[in-house]
Amino acid sequence: MRIGIDVGGTKTHAIALDDAGRTAAQARVATGRGAGGVLESTRSVIRELATATGTPTGGFESVGIGIPGIVDFNTGTVSHAVNLGFTELDLGRQLATDAAGPVRVDNDVNAAAFGAFRTLDGMPDSVAYLNVGTGLAAGVVVDGHLVRGSHGTAGEIGHIPVDPAGSVCTCGQRGCLETVASGNALSARWPAGGEQPIVALNAAADAGDAEAGRVRDALVDGIATAVQVLLLTLDTDLVLLGGGMMSDGAATLGRVRENLAARSVHSPFLASLHLPDRLRLAPPSSTVCAVGAALLASEDDPTHPIPRRTPMAKTAHTSDALPRPGGAYSHLVEANVFVYTAGFGPHDPATGVIPHGIAAQTEAVLRNLSTALGVVGLGLADVVKTTVHLADLGDFAEFDAAYSRIIPAPFPVRTTVGSTLRGMLVEIDAVAVHQTAPG
Ligand SMILES: [Zn+2]
Repeated sequence: MRIGIDVGGTKTHAIALDDAGRTAAQARVATGRGAGGVLESTRSVIRELATATGTPTGGFESVGIGIPGIVDFNTGTVSHAVNLGFTELDLGRQLATDAAGPVRVDNDVNAAAFGAFRTLDGMPDSVAYLNVGTGLAAGVVVDGHLVRGSHGTAGEIGHIPVDPAGSVCTCGQRGCLETVASGNALSARWPAGGEQPIVALNAAADAGDAEAGRVRDALVDGIATAVQVLLLTLDTDLVLLGGGMMSDGAATLGRVRENLAARSVHSPFLASLHLPDRLRLAPPSSTVCAVGAALLASEDDPTHPIPRRTPMAKTAHTSDALPRPGGAYSHLVEANVFVYTAGFGPHDPATGVIPHGIAAQTEAVLRNLSTALGVVGLGLADVVKTTVHLADLGDFAEFDAAYSRIIPAPFPVRTTVGSTLRGMLVEIDAVAVHQTAPG
């Protein structure tokens, strides 16, 4: 019997799952305040579930907890849980004697993402769960596993600043996405919301209240930006939209889809990504969070139907997307080398004029690239793929030809206009291979 606990700002909801993954019992209590209060209400639901399922004290196979705040998944320590009224609680260690097996503590949005991924029909391998609740954050599952990041903050996209003239965020920055698209943002911008602020806002906007319409447009635009950020940075198959701000269901979902479609009208790039089609509504988070928490202990279970994949080495990035000439390479090492060359042609120091001598430009660029590659122990012969971003230099084809003649690689050079480049600058993103003995 595994149990999962969703520690919310007001209620704590716990579920016991039997060996077949069915819900054997549930319990709900009011969440206590402060570190001691949260610990006591958490223990209280564990006791209730023990009684309801006839499990002896400390006899649960595992205990998983989803809780708001910054969570160190490895130690089970929760910090900065502002809504729960404490700055630090070593919840994992405190509950160690309440379970026979592992106690796993994770961020509540991560638990909800994992619960949705594991329990909903038709979930692809990679899913982002965007929680539009009091705040704004995402839990991310890639290849069947939660992505936590090196500091446990992966998915905290609510604190990406998007508006330099926006309001100050609880995190101290100005104009964070969360100050536009969250329950806190809505109550600050439109305080007349009551118990179900998003429902009240929609009713007022639909009735012709111009201010409610503006607030709603900003909210929808912020959610759409959050979705776009997730899909452009992680490229998950789907984004699930959940949280209290999505409680009116399809209405907000439809508006976010319309917003994303409108962004794609003038961008063939965005249009090709089909952003509106990659959104779904998540079920009520109170259930998926508790279930996801209960499943956290099985995340690394090799006997589970979704086994852990071989971890990727940190020093070398093996990529199937890159060509492997002749199969002679057992490792591909991406050495992303950026070469900035200002005035790369032999310019006239008296006038500052830089001639468009393609051969001279190419030679200078390669000299700098060679130097940069040397830093990572590679040479020009190791380069298999290059993207050259050129400022306004005129004839790209001539540059491509000269570059390809000098680099002995059977791969085409892709040249683009570097939109952020100014004046006579070149930036090269080179991919090199490290050749090792096959085997
Ligand atoms: Zn912020």
